This record gives sequence, structure tokens and C-alpha cells, in this order.
Amino acid sequence: MISITLNGQKIEAREGQTILEVAREHGIRIPTLCYHKDLSPTGNCRICVVEVKGARFLQAACVTQVWDGMEIETHSEKAVASRKRTLSLMLANHPPDCLTCDASGSCELQDLAYEYQVEVPAWGAKGTRYPVDSDPNPFIRVDMNKCILCRRCVLACAEIQVRDVWGVAKRGFEEVIVAGAGTTMLEARCESCGQCVAYCPTGALTNKMSYGLGRAHQIEKVTTTCGYCGVGCQFDLQVRDGRIIGVASNPNAPVNGMALCVKGRYGWDYIHHPDRLTKPMVRRYLLEGKEKPKTPLSERSASALWEWVETDWDTALGLAAQRLGRAREAHGPDSVGVLTSAKCLNEENYLMNKFARQVIGTNNIDHCARL
Ligand code: SF4
Ligand code: SF4
Ligand code: SF4
Repeated sequence: MISITLNGQKIEAREGQTILEVAREHGIRIPTLCYHKDLSPTGNCRICVVEVKGARFLQAACVTQVWDGMEIETHSEKAVASRKRTLSLMLANHPPDCLTCDASGSCELQDLAYEYQVEVPAWGAKGTRYPVDSDPNPFIRVDMNKCILCRRCVLACAEIQVRDVWGVAKRGFEEVIVAGAGTTMLEARCESCGQCVAYCPTGALTNKMSYGLGRAHQIEKVTTTCGYCGVGCQFDLQVRDGRIIGVASNPNAPVNGMALCVKGRYGWDYIHHPDRLTKPMVRRYLLEGKEKPKTPLSERSASALWEWVETDWDTALGLAAQRLGRAREAHGPDSVGVLTSAKCLNEENYLMNKFARQVIGTNNIDHCARL
């Protein structure tokens, strides 16, 4: 352990810890923009700068390790003034679109501008430099006018999704985040997982399907488990007026953290789809009680003799039990096979095992481990 002085208080820290880590452990909030605990720190946004006694310049807390005897002021006049200046430069190069921005209310840049009371400088507000919604990706809306070049998207794609879609092109005022070598996201091997969107602190990357449907204060979050596969990822359904309008990562999800695949993050539109079955259906034989055709029918004609009828659960389950019982009596228990699913709970799969072996009396039970 080493001893440091943080905001006038002597404390102990572990060797190798950054100033930011030590401060957070001691309940001191140093603001950040490019930093995220899941990603490698880069120290490029300069919002987390702090004053270190003896150092010539302000130090970025997210990348500077503590040393024995270090004296740090996290909110000195100089550090706060520097944060304000940096924010002001960011806003100068940012469209003042908060009124209509989907990210408003969940935007980290907006929050910091409010906290530090920084406004768009009179000489700033340059307007749009890049086409809005510039990428044809069906799920991700790209508006690089709102990008603050924090590079979280670059790191999220490279370190979590390992697709390396995003990169940084040009330098200085022209610096811009691009997919591939300036291609579209899909051409640059994007698999539309939306990780870059989840880590973007502003409205530069947002979800196309949810765009315009609601902002942070209008949305209720309901934490749930994805129904698409057996991994069991958790996320927050975004609900507005009783309708699901999107999916957001839940950083506390025990299995997956912020990560989700394209199905979990964007495959939610079936929930309110008009074609979705919401009641059980059974097939009714149209020639029931009538004379059967004498000549064998083609598969197509034979299937036309059945129609789907909506019913209630008791009727549907009763019918299934009756037909399974009949098959078992006529052809023996091994004439029945049971397939269960990775999408079910362990308890449900266990019950199906009991049902197959003890109720039907067959070992014909298998499990679709794949999707
Ligand atoms: S990205 Fe943030 S700061 Fe920029 S317009 Fe949207 S809400 Fe406002
Ligand atoms: S959606 Fe996923 S794969 Fe595509 S750029 Fe973003 S992080 Fe990379
Ligand atoms: S697109 Fe978003 S995450 Fe990527 S650099 Fe810009 S602001 Fe940061």
C-alpha cells in the first residue's frame, strides 16, 4: 500500500491504481466522458483532469497512476476551469440540438454542460458538418455532428465485439470517426450488435428503431431476461405508455454486462406485431364426420382440409393430451418424442423430462441447444 493525499485527506491506495479509481473508491466524483470502466482508458477527452502537486500540467485522472506521497486536488480552481474550457470547445463544435435530440436526458455531454454551467460559445455552434443519419445500417442511426471524439465506440467494437468496425480518420479539426476506411458500417463487417450505441455518451450513435419514440424521462425501464437463447442475457426494456419502444443495456446484468447480440437488442418489434399469435390455435379437420376422399391427395390438397381455429388454453391443452394419449395407446410410448428448448427455464426442461419419461413412458427426449 502507498500513502497519498486526496483533497487534503491522507489515504491509502494500492500501487498501480489510477487517480480516478482511488477517488471513486473514496466517494469522490471526478467527471469523465471518454472513460468507461469496461473499456481501456485513453485519457483523450481531458474532462477528468486534476491538479497534482509538483506536476507541470493537469493530469488525466483515468490514466495517471498514483505514487507514494502524491498530493491531488480533484476540484481545484485550475482543474474546474480546464474542464469548463474543454466543454466549451466541445460545444463549439456541436450542433445545439438538445431540443430535438433523442439522447437528451441521457446524454453525458448535456449533463456535464449543465453541471458546469457551460453554454455554447458565441463564436461556436458551427451547425452540421456531416450528413445526418448517414449510414444505411438498419438499426443504428449515425449523426457524427454530435460526436465528441471520445472513441468509446471504437473501443467497444474492438475490445468487446472484436469487429474493429470504427476507426479515427484525419487529424485536427477534420478528425472524424469512420466505419472501415470510410465505408458503410455493414461493409466494414458490422454485425449490428449495438455495443457502440450503448457506449456512446451522446446522440451521435442512437437506435434507429427507437428514434423519436421517447426520451429518458418518458421511458419506464423494465429489467428482463432475453428470450432468444439459453445464455440468459439481461437488459432493460424501454416502455412508454405501455408499449415497448426499445431495449437498453443494463450495466448490472450478471451474465452479459452491457453486451447484447443483434437479436436481443433489436429483435423486439415482434412483441406488438399484429401477426403475433396471442391465443392458442388448433387445427380442425374440415371433413370430420364426412366421407373421406377415395383417391390419395397431394400434400397441398391434404393440408387444405385442415383449418386453424383460435381457441382457449383449456381446450388446446385438453386436445393435445387426448391426441398424445391416443397415439400412445395405439402405437406404444416410443411412438411419441419430446423436443425441449434452450429458451425454456431449467425448471421447465426438467418438467418436460419428467413428462416424457414418467407420464408418456419414453426416453425419446432431446433438446435444441442451438437457436
Ligand atoms: S448529443 Fe447531447 S448535447 Fe448533443 S444535442 Fe444531443 S442531447 Fe444535446
Ligand atoms: S454495432 Fe457492433 S459490430 Fe457494429 S460497429 Fe457497433 S459495436 Fe461494432
Ligand atoms: S460516436 Fe459516440 S462513442 Fe464514438 S467517438 Fe463519437 S461520441 Fe464517442
